[in-house]
Amino acid sequence: MSAVIYPTTNWTATEQLVIAKGKGVYVYDEQGKEYLEGISGLWCAALGYGNEEIVDAATEQMRTLSYSHMFGGKTHRVGMALADKLSDIVPINNGKVFFGSSGSDANDTQVKMLRYYFDAIGQPEKYKIIARDRAYHGVTVAAASLTGLAINQNHFNLPVDALGVLRTDAPHYYRNALPGENETQFCDRLANNLEQMILREGPETIAAFIAEPFNGAGGVIVPPEDYWPKIQAVLNRYGVMLIADEVITGFGRTGNDWGATTYDMAPKAMSLAKALSSAYALISAAVIDGELYDAMLPTSQKAGVFGHGYTYTGHPVSCAVALKTIEIYQRDNIFSQAATMGEYFQARLNELKQHPLVGEVRGVGMIAAVEMVANKETKAALPAAIGAYAQQVCQDNGLIVRALAGPSLAMCPPLIISREQIDELISKLQMALDAAQDYAGSKGFLE
Ligand code: PLP
Repeated sequence: MSAVIYPTTNWTATEQLVIAKGKGVYVYDEQGKEYLEGISGLWCAALGYGNEEIVDAATEQMRTLSYSHMFGGKTHRVGMALADKLSDIVPINNGKVFFGSSGSDANDTQVKMLRYYFDAIGQPEKYKIIARDRAYHGVTVAAASLTGLAINQNHFNLPVDALGVLRTDAPHYYRNALPGENETQFCDRLANNLEQMILREGPETIAAFIAEPFNGAGGVIVPPEDYWPKIQAVLNRYGVMLIADEVITGFGRTGNDWGATTYDMAPKAMSLAKALSSAYALISAAVIDGELYDAMLPTSQKAGVFGHGYTYTGHPVSCAVALKTIEIYQRDNIFSQAATMGEYFQARLNELKQHPLVGEVRGVGMIAAVEMVANKETKAALPAAIGAYAQQVCQDNGLIVRALAGPSLAMCPPLIISREQIDELISKLQMALDAAQDYAGSKGFLE
């Protein structure tokens, strides 16, 4: 055993698989065994592995200027160019960009900028943030407080009360609809629950609603069509800002540029990471509406500085990598390719609805989850062990997917995946479902 303390790992079962290299949509272990990376690492390696153009961009930047910070008026051209590029492509007016290194820190930055903003405009009592069940916003202290998964809060004494986190429903129609409730009624109920919560707490105390356009790590929960228009209407009615956490959904994952444009959301702020650099370098961005930024200027002048920033805010190598990544997305029409391949991917996955173990197939563009159940009629859940088992069978057969709550198997392949590789993914997944069905049957889990 090495000295690593492993993240999001059972510490009594570490070091199961050593990944040694990657090329295209495949990674290889130390014995040279090939695995189709069906979840792009952690939903991030959008352009796959071994992209020489990105390697060259990073190398050149390391040679030219390996590091320079952004504190106190110092800056560099590559960071400015990336911020301007992001400002041009996000669906936010005159977007202003604060760089970090991870999705979690981008969300922490959002929390701090919200507070700074409401303090600046003389409304410090407007500080509460509404987040959803099964949300994943990261694991730093503020981000983990916004996250709605017990595993990230239990034993850590989270959420932090002072953050004023309020919890509302996940738009998980398959699991959370009431008997006989159709999708429209379900969305009406969720919008009404949100509205009642805002009224109960007092709209003057609520700063923002943070949400992933669709939940990723919470189980790839794709909202019904009516969900976002109804939620956005409630937020507009009470002046509650929407922060779109686009850490997974951004950069073509839905087949469109953003989750926000896919679902017609109107965010005032967006958190970006992961595919921003296709995971070739650490970088995140908290983007806010220019109006919010302008309103904070007098406070930062009075205080002397905006007192928040990381050593690696705007790291030049990460910025060069992100600029090259976005150049490739645009030049090679990667998002429309993802839309086309995404249709094929979803169609092939939908064939698995016939499988006796599959309760629901859900997804959009190039991301999906297959939920396994003990009984298709009653939707009776299976133990988490079945998810872990199916994930392991996939891995044994050279496919990497991720078992999530449900149990569901999540997939989020690199956007560059081909039709033949999608076929390979589906046939390996099918084998794992067959094996998981046999296993569940042998354990007496099926009803
Ligand atoms: N937000 C969302 C929607 C995510 O999916 C994640 C990570 O999966 C994060 C934030 C946290 O990002 P990081 O792991 O880079 O801190």
